[in-house]
Amino acid sequence: MEEREGFIVAIGCRKCGKCENICPNGALYRINGFVNVDHEKCDLCMECVKTCPNKALVYME
Ligand code: SF4
Ligand code: SF4
Repeated sequence: MEEREGFIVAIGCRKCGKCENICPNGALYRINGFVNVDHEKCDLCMECVKTCPNKALVYME
């Protein structure tokens, strides 16, 4: 896989839960239902970005 820099941020999460088990690295966690990203665990595979129906998970360079 190509090397990526940057990180994933959650903006405007609607707590739908669709990304719940999608992260292969366990980098997604929820606080009061809102999704957050553990940048230490995230390897930028983009699975969550593709999955979120609300486009709340965004790749920032
Ligand atoms: S980009 Fe991949 S590794 Fe990073 S939080 Fe999303 S699903 Fe997990
Ligand atoms: S799929 Fe998107 S809107 Fe739904 S819980 Fe995950 S980040 Fe939030």
